[in-house]
Amino acid sequence: MFLKDYPLSKVTSLGVGGPADFFIQPKSTHEVVQAQNFSAEKGLPLTIIGYGTNLLIRDGGIRGVVLQMAQAFAGAKVEGTILTAQAGCLLGSLSKLALHHHLSGLEFAVGIPGGLGGAAFMNAGAYGGEIGPLIRSIQYVQNGQPGTWNRDEFYFSYRSSRLQGDAKGAIVTQAELELTPGEPCDIFQKMDDFQNQRRSKQPLEYPSAGSTFKRPPGHYVGPLIEKAGLKGFRIGGAQVSTKHAGFIIKTGEATAQDFLDLIAKIQDTIRQGFGVQLEPEIRILGED
Ligand SMILES: Cc1cc2nc3c(=O)[nH]c(=O)nc-3n(C[C@H](O)[C@H](O)[C@H](O)COP(=O)(O)OP(=O)(O)OC[C@H]3O[C@@H](n4cnc5c(N)ncnc54)[C@H](O)[C@@H]3O)c2cc1C
Repeated sequence: MFLKDYPLSKVTSLGVGGPADFFIQPKSTHEVVQAQNFSAEKGLPLTIIGYGTNLLIRDGGIRGVVLQMAQAFAGAKVEGTILTAQAGCLLGSLSKLALHHHLSGLEFAVGIPGGLGGAAFMNAGAYGGEIGPLIRSIQYVQNGQPGTWNRDEFYFSYRSSRLQGDAKGAIVTQAELELTPGEPCDIFQKMDDFQNQRRSKQPLEYPSAGSTFKRPPGHYVGPLIEKAGLKGFRIGGAQVSTKHAGFIIKTGEATAQDFLDLIAKIQDTIRQGFGVQLEPEIRILGED
C-alpha cells in the first residue's frame, strides 16, 4: 500500500527532509517487483532507502516513489557458518545473532545503525572490518526481475559497491554472509570494545547520519576540521560535533538546508586551508 506525501523526516536518523510523493514498505520480493513495475509503468522515479541512517534528504523531499526496505523485511537464519538475512535486518541484530551462533566476522558491525541492504550499498565498515568481504551472495530486484550475484559478481571498495556503479537502481532483498567459527568470549569482548570506543568518541546522544565525509587519502577528517577551527561551528540547527568533528549533529530545530550549508562551508574551508577535497559519505537525496 502506498502512502502519499509521507514525511521522510520520520524515517531518517537526522530527522530532516521533505515528503515522498509515494512511500511504500514492501513485505516480500513480490511486492518489491510490483513497486518497481508500478514506478516504471507510471514513469515515476524510484528511490530506495533503508533505515535512513546515512541520508540527508533535502527540504523539498523526493519526487516519485520511495521504497523503504526496513522492519517489514527483516528475517534472518544461520546454517553452519552461513548467515542469511533480509535487507531490512539491522546490522546490530546480525552481529548479535552471529555471536549467539559462535560465529566471528560481524563484530565490527555491532554499533553501526541501519540495515543490511544499506550496508551492502555503502560497503559499511568500522574498526578494520567491512561488510563487502563477508558477502557470499546477494539477491536483488532490477528492472522488475529478481536475480542473484555471487561473491565474485558483487564488487565493492571503500564505502562503495556495485550498487553505486553499474547496478544502480537494483534493490537488495537478501544476502548470505560467510562467517568463521570463533570463541564466544573473544567475539563478545571485541564487540564490547568496539561499542565502548564508539560511546566514548562519537556524539551518539544527538541525531546524526554518522561520519559526514569519506576519509580522504592520507588524512583523517575530524582532525582536519578541528585544525580549520570548525569544531562546534553551527549553521541554524546543524552543528559540527564538539565531541567528534567528523560528525555533524542536529541540535534543536534544523532544516536540511542548514546541513547542506554547513557541509559546503566545511568543504570550502578545508579546500582553501589544506588543498583537500572532502567528499560526502552521507547520501544526499531529493530536491530543495
Ligand atoms: C551514529 C551513526 C554511526 C554510524 N557509524 C557508521 C560506521 O561506523 N560505519 C559505516 O560504514 N557507517 C556508519 N554509519 C552510517 C550508516 O549507519 C550505514 O551506512 C548503514 O549501513 C546505512 O544503512 P541504512 O539501512 O540506514 O541505509 P540508508 O541510510 O537508508 O541508505 C543508504 C544508501 O543505501 C541504499 N540502500 C538502502 N537499502 C538498500 C537496499 N535494500 N537495496 C539497495 N540500496 C539500498 C540507499 O539508496 C542509500 O543510497 C553510521 C550512522 C550513524 C547515524
